[in-house]
Amino acid sequence: MTQRCAIVGAGLTGLVAAYRLAQAGWQVEVFERWPAPGGLVAMFEVGGEPLECFYHHLFTTDTDYVELAEELGLGPTIEWLPSRMGMYCRGRLWDFGTPASLLRFRPLPWPAKVRFALTTLYLRHRDNLAEFERVTAADWIQRWAGTAVWETVWGPLLEQKFADRASAVSMAWLWRKVYLRGRSRSPSGMGERLGYMRGGFGRLVDALVGRLERLGVALHLASPVRRLAPAAGAIRLTVRRQEFDFPLVLFTGSPEELLQAAGPALPDNYRQLLAPLEGTAALCMVMELTRSLTPYYWLNIADSTFPFGGVIEHTNYISAQRYGGRVIVYLSKYLFPSAPAWAMRDGELWALYRPFLQRLNPAFDDSWVLARHVFRAAYAQPVVPPMYSRALPPFATPWPGLYHSCMAQIYPEDRGQNYAVRAGAAAAERLLAAHP
Ligand SMILES: Cc1cc2nc3c(=O)[nH]c(=O)nc-3n(C[C@H](O)[C@H](O)[C@H](O)COP(=O)(O)OP(=O)(O)OC[C@H]3O[C@@H](n4cnc5c(N)ncnc54)[C@H](O)[C@@H]3O)c2cc1C
Repeated sequence: MTQRCAIVGAGLTGLVAAYRLAQAGWQVEVFERWPAPGGLVAMFEVGGEPLECFYHHLFTTDTDYVELAEELGLGPTIEWLPSRMGMYCRGRLWDFGTPASLLRFRPLPWPAKVRFALTTLYLRHRDNLAEFERVTAADWIQRWAGTAVWETVWGPLLEQKFADRASAVSMAWLWRKVYLRGRSRSPSGMGERLGYMRGGFGRLVDALVGRLERLGVALHLASPVRRLAPAAGAIRLTVRRQEFDFPLVLFTGSPEELLQAAGPALPDNYRQLLAPLEGTAALCMVMELTRSLTPYYWLNIADSTFPFGGVIEHTNYISAQRYGGRVIVYLSKYLFPSAPAWAMRDGELWALYRPFLQRLNPAFDDSWVLARHVFRAAYAQPVVPPMYSRALPPFATPWPGLYHSCMAQIYPEDRGQNYAVRAGAAAAERLLAAHP
């Protein structure tokens, strides 16, 4: 008998799961809240060229993504290009991320530089989650690398991603990041090549959607699933005023979105498991400029007076010529939606950000700005506290037929396209095994 399955969410996790299930002969329908597929890999256009609303690149360790790209005929479109990283600290820009730049990085005194280098090397060579699970990154780094390293380097980096929960983040998360990043670098530790899909990562989303169409998968866009409920051997989805019953449903939104859709009918113990799982939102301003702002692709801001934490100058990585000569700069901030900046209008945000651009480059002038765009994603980065392995939301929910696969289950790796591809494929495999 052909299995019928609904997938809620047309991000990479949902699209990959739909693809694998449809390949296995299942009848699949995908329901997505937004008018376009891709989730966080949302795209818009600059100078006639597609661009990510939220900056994206690949690490060489992102093998699941690369394999899928190859399967879809997109392997040759991935370019591995050098990237330059910097840090804004104590009122100026510094090169960062290579041994030579560490030697010249004056904000860290010499003993702190040595401890930073030794602890980074140590983290790159340890492959033991249990060693890092019980402790926060703040405690581990301060104990082994010192307070100066925490306050100057790692603390600001974690604040960029986790806002005021930075000091509650597990060392397991930071360890895995450093460990995998080490594998993405050349053996000398000098420089790093990052991967970009020529024409933007939306191409892989489009390729998946094309395959789904050919396999007969129905993709319902602009279709938020407002309600999920058990209904006589099925799960009932309420989408606007319509109801759909499916024996199997895979939900790929956040734990909070699942709680909202399924409501109080879920058993209390399961609700108590999901309720504490937090995630930061992403607020991204993309500027199209006439001139370059900084010499870096990736600039971390280690200065808590700044209203944004990362400056990603995309065209220091991918040539501006592709975008009609426009320089593209993302100003990135992760925050909780309770933070005032989340609710600001685009103009208010610009008034807040603008003076800080002159601190990065004193020559910056309003006449450089050709256009600016603001993008928001309410669930962008799960917060990972110590012993997260015990808090991971389960794949199977208490309702027979309802399953959950989302970013909050990616651990100890940081969420990313690679892990969404892996999660989507793993979800399909588990569904196929459980419902042969
Ligand atoms: C600022 C930023 C920078 C990033 N940089 C990188 C990077 O450099 N490299 C990299 O690999 N990754 C990066 N990522 C992460 C990457 O985009 C994500 O890990 C990946 O796209 C997650 O895919 P997903 O399908 O799990 O989740 P999502 O993309 O969030 O998809 C979930 C989908 O479910 C839908 N949904 C939820 N609830 C409902 C409902 N009730 N009804 C209907 N639809 C629903 C949502 O609308 C969404 O489309 C970045 C993300 C952000 C925000």
